[in-house]
Amino acid sequence: MQLRRLRSLVFLVSLLGLVAPAMFAEQAISVTVDATGIRSKLLRTHLVIPVKPGPLTLYYPKWIPGEHGPDGPIGNLTGLKFEADGKTIPWQRDLLDVFTFHVEIPRGASQLNASYDYIEPDGGSVTDKLMVLEWNEVVLYPADIPAEKLTYQAKLLIPDEWKFGTALPVESESGNQVSFKPISLDLLVDSPVVAGEFYRTIDLTPPGEPVHHEINMVADSEAALNISPENQKQMINLVAESGKLFGARHYRDYHFLLALSDHVAHFGLEHHESNDSRMAERALLSPGSGMSLGGLLAHEFAHSWSGKFRRPADLTTPDYEHPMKTDLLWGYEGMTDYVGPMLAARSGLWTPEQYHEYLAGIAATLGPGRPGRTWRPLLDTAVGEPGLGFGRSGWLNWRRGTDYYEEGDLLWLEVATIIHRESGGKKSVDDFCQAFYGGPNRGPEVKPYTFDELVGALNAIAPFDWATFLHERLNSTSAEAPVGGIENGGWKVTFNGEPPKSEGRRGGPGDIYSIGLQVASDGTVTDSIVGSPAFEAGISSQMKIIGVNGRMFTQDLLSDAIKSAKDTSKPITLLLVVDDYFRTCTINYHGGPRYPHLLRDDTRPNYLDELIKPRAATQ
Ligand SMILES: [Zn+2]
Repeated sequence: MQLRRLRSLVFLVSLLGLVAPAMFAEQAISVTVDATGIRSKLLRTHLVIPVKPGPLTLYYPKWIPGEHGPDGPIGNLTGLKFEADGKTIPWQRDLLDVFTFHVEIPRGASQLNASYDYIEPDGGSVTDKLMVLEWNEVVLYPADIPAEKLTYQAKLLIPDEWKFGTALPVESESGNQVSFKPISLDLLVDSPVVAGEFYRTIDLTPPGEPVHHEINMVADSEAALNISPENQKQMINLVAESGKLFGARHYRDYHFLLALSDHVAHFGLEHHESNDSRMAERALLSPGSGMSLGGLLAHEFAHSWSGKFRRPADLTTPDYEHPMKTDLLWGYEGMTDYVGPMLAARSGLWTPEQYHEYLAGIAATLGPGRPGRTWRPLLDTAVGEPGLGFGRSGWLNWRRGTDYYEEGDLLWLEVATIIHRESGGKKSVDDFCQAFYGGPNRGPEVKPYTFDELVGALNAIAPFDWATFLHERLNSTSAEAPVGGIENGGWKVTFNGEPPKSEGRRGGPGDIYSIGLQVASDGTVTDSIVGSPAFEAGISSQMKIIGVNGRMFTQDLLSDAIKSAKDTSKPITLLLVVDDYFRTCTINYHGGPRYPHLLRDDTRPNYLDELIKPRAATQ
């Protein structure tokens, strides 16, 4: 009990910055990651930690920044062994926390050696030709010291002939070994490395821009790296437009790390000085390449300001063991989800029509596609993120999921139009961004904010009852999506039978706004809107459609059935498999296909398009 009390006192004091955490601040922890056997899906790590005799607690990172939950992949940590003075040291896992290990350092020992392996899961970060190394997966760190106070000296061994890219400052390179400059644990974890056989770097620094930007791409084939000159120019525009929007940068240089493979997980993860983005192998070769780059990379890039530099105070934790409170994710992610597509449109990665269709898509998803709004407000989708966020399948319309992204997008668009209105056209969301995300470039820095500080910053740009407005939007259980921003911008959401030319980044429209089903290509119902004609006919999530009007299911056949039912009183008949029983359902729907679009409202100025016009002079 005394020891525990002492430890918490040391932690409190070190948090206050009154006492330097002596041992680890003075001497770097050495971490060597051997990825030469990565084709066998194993990363071998060796850690040398300066220690003194007595009990020592080590953590494996649990709460991962940007993932907003306690999802560190502890299950993949294997082969763990400790040794000091040539002797094996036994370890115990904490009885209440699988991420915590306890060891007793023997008298006379000054170094603890730890060795362990990380098993790369299938569909994770590695293929035969490339890897993305996330340092949180391969480090242990001593308890009770803030991550920014711990220094790591990192080394990485990669397969022969592979090349690498990262924002981590390099000290030296020799053969296939890279030594990085000593760096704090928080910046190490914030700086992933891409490496691969097929590798390409392109400078994305706009003319006159003092801070260097580049894209480091790895792929499963040489051909996949063939980004078009047009997309390169648009990416340079993106960098230029970010400078105009925020008026400041908070990094030494910036690396877009892009992995192109059909065998890695597809997502993006933000960092201060880089982003770890992963797309399909041929994403850059497809006609939708600009849409893909704009949808993912612009969002992750905008996070360098929104989320990394300005971070909700409740998400700003001293290490990876302390839980995060996620109630301000509608700021962290919502603002980024608004700014990312806006920058994609300003830079030309998206056309104005694609931006309109994207907004129509999310407005529809959050309106008729989300009856769960009537019981679960936006704020709760943020608060419930750890445990209720990513990775759930089925019943999304009724559960709700990570809606603080898209609903945050609509919310911040509305904020942008209110700033314009309340300031009589004198101020814009750009002024807010420059005030809130601006300031001198001191490298990767965190400046936390609270709800009240956010409201204060909005009031400084355009006086308005922002607190009431935000509380109303955050706690609303209205069935209607908050489309005030679209309408203030001079447009309306409408539905008609014409399919959109391109789909939005997430939740693309389909049959969901007609009969109320989202159906995969094999007939599996991925969602059935509660209260829709299909739901009322007895169809729900995870059932499988195998027949349409007496014929074997295809998506085209289902679309045809919806169209032809418009001119008849006959129901649509679907044959389903439920568990291992057949079920026939008849849907009485005669409204034809319905797809969301934005329609211009000529009674109001077109401010929406004003917001996505380029600001930078490079175009
Ligand atoms: Zn994000």
